[in-house]
Amino acid sequence: MPLNRNPKWFGLTQAQERRVGIDAILGIGGRLVLFQFKAWQSDRIKLECDQLKKLTAVQLKYPHSTFYVFPEAKDIYVASRDPCLFPKAWVFKPNDVVSHVSEGQNYISFDLDVAAKCLRQYRPSVHVSVDSACARLGCYCNTTRDKMLESALRPDSLLRFFTPAWDQIRRTADSDSIVDSIGIPIARNPQGLELDVEPITTEEQFEVLLGDREAGGDLEPGAYGFFIPSK
Ligand SMILES: [Zn+2]
Repeated sequence: MPLNRNPKWFGLTQAQERRVGIDAILGIGGRLVLFQFKAWQSDRIKLECDQLKKLTAVQLKYPHSTFYVFPEAKDIYVASRDPCLFPKAWVFKPNDVVSHVSEGQNYISFDLDVAAKCLRQYRPSVHVSVDSACARLGCYCNTTRDKMLESALRPDSLLRFFTPAWDQIRRTADSDSIVDSIGIPIARNPQGLELDVEPITTEEQFEVLLGDREAGGDLEPGAYGFFIPSK
């Protein structure tokens, strides 16, 4: 994958690892995108409702920051030599699902309907639209410049951060229409960052954002941060 910035992955599930990760990136400054990866369990994608609500709260504050990702293949050992960030994967946002959760419900689970691009639950009947990760987050599979640009201009696209020509494109394009709105802005000293939303400046603030008022709780397995330095 062509990169002009050096992104970092770190785990969010374990409180200790999360604190170390957040502390490190606070010193660098940039944008943090949260991913909750899900594996297939007996041909279902099963979401923990408590975590779903926490991630929805993050998404409501930072609309392009938080995604569930699951593989199309039910076999987790499928090779991943794809040039894209998430090969053959599907994406949805917590807020797409949370309204279908009823009071006191602990889990919600779905089948994938690839042809209809949706997650389905039968009783009660629920449809949730999903996008391929390429379509939602940016795609290097299409090699023409126009296709890549189109992909990079989507509001959720991660691609803009990695396309070497992006900064130049941004300078020449209508600047009002392109805002670095993706992710959660993170910096101990946010001066100099272009901000459209409130930045996270301390570890505690991040814990509160995750809904952990007693701070330091573990999250569901498979929660990761993808950090994109501002430079
Ligand atoms: Zn792709």
